[in-house]
Amino acid sequence: MIDTHAHLHLPDFDGDRDRVIARAFALGLDALIEINISAGGWPAVKRLAEADARIHATLGIHPHEAGPEALRALAGLEGELASERVVAVGETGLDAARGRAPREEQVALCAAHIGLAREARLPLVLHCREAFPELLRLLDLEGRGAVRGVFHCFSGGAGEAREIAARGFHMGFGGGVTYAPERWRPVLAAVPAGRLLLETDAPFLRPAPDRRGRNEPAFLFRTAAAIARLLGLSEEETEARADANAADLFGPSVIRRSPPAPADSPDGGAASP
Ligand SMILES: [Zn+2]
Ligand SMILES: [Zn+2]
Repeated sequence: MIDTHAHLHLPDFDGDRDRVIARAFALGLDALIEINISAGGWPAVKRLAEADARIHATLGIHPHEAGPEALRALAGLEGELASERVVAVGETGLDAARGRAPREEQVALCAAHIGLAREARLPLVLHCREAFPELLRLLDLEGRGAVRGVFHCFSGGAGEAREIAARGFHMGFGGGVTYAPERWRPVLAAVPAGRLLLETDAPFLRPAPDRRGRNEPAFLFRTAAAIARLLGLSEEETEARADANAADLFGPSVIRRSPPAPADSPDGGAASP
């Protein structure tokens, strides 16, 4: 199973980051995609991805940070997109729900990310809150039909799911599905088999039953079980579907299984070099 959206570089994990990562891989997680959200956070994201072959990185600045400074910082990071550890551009997008940054500045920053994704031929990790029509217009305008990506932590309805899938984008589902499963049944039914991804958004959105507190990649198995029930599939089928979709979008490197630990390895080979 692949956690396609986690923020393990955030201070929430400063006390036990290595243990959190080891726990998830010990439970059977195959890989995770560590999502950058700020220029200042990039070195920590990069360090995580360089320390473990199962951790992949994205490069981007969250819409909450939008402004002239973020635009300049993004331009300064552009060269990092050439790293083989970077599998996507983002997280970027539009957030009209919390509106922490002015709309025009969010649009400018998102447009710059879409341009980078197009040029680097990388997928986008998209954050979209109450802004579906506007973000789809921006993707048409700046993506020119040549970008793909995932609407992470998908928050729309069945109609939006169909429209997004028809345009070739994926949708990521996480702990939110466990809070109100019946709200998500028709939405998940509208997502074509080839467009479903699984994510935690750790440290946010810890799945039920104890949704308060910090989320971590090990809890993705709970979310996957809830989604499997709603889809009427086995957990194995759901995992296989989501893994194949992650490899399709982010590239086959994200699904490559880590080699088995050598028998004489004192620590069981939990961490790859
Ligand atoms: Zn987000
Ligand atoms: Zn995120």
